[in-house]
Amino acid sequence: MHEMSYVVRLVNEAITAAEENNANAVKQISVLVGEMTDVVPDYLKRYYPDCVKNTILEGSELVTELDPVVIECSGCGKKYHPSKENNYGCPDCGSAAGKIIAGKYVVLKSVEIED
Ligand SMILES: [Zn+2]
Repeated sequence: MHEMSYVVRLVNEAITAAEENNANAVKQISVLVGEMTDVVPDYLKRYYPDCVKNTILEGSELVTELDPVVIECSGCGKKYHPSKENNYGCPDCGSAAGKIIAGKYVVLKSVEIED
């Protein structure tokens, strides 16, 4: 149930963003859910209404988007999405060494303000 802690963090970030924009109400917040995280979007959505009660976010909707894994190859610098066809290595040089540069986190992407 660690999704709850993600929701609390995202809600706090969204409240800060909404306040900075002098919002009166928020329509929806968009969240990127990294492919490599084990966060279940449905759980985020389930906890959301309780977490936003009595805040500026009350009544808004949480929308999630999958953030695919991107690896930067240590051999040739290519950025790629690991796939089975390439044995999860670099499609250009075949190297398995690389740095994960996307898909690892749960990030607040945007806050849509009600006008
Ligand atoms: Zn490579």
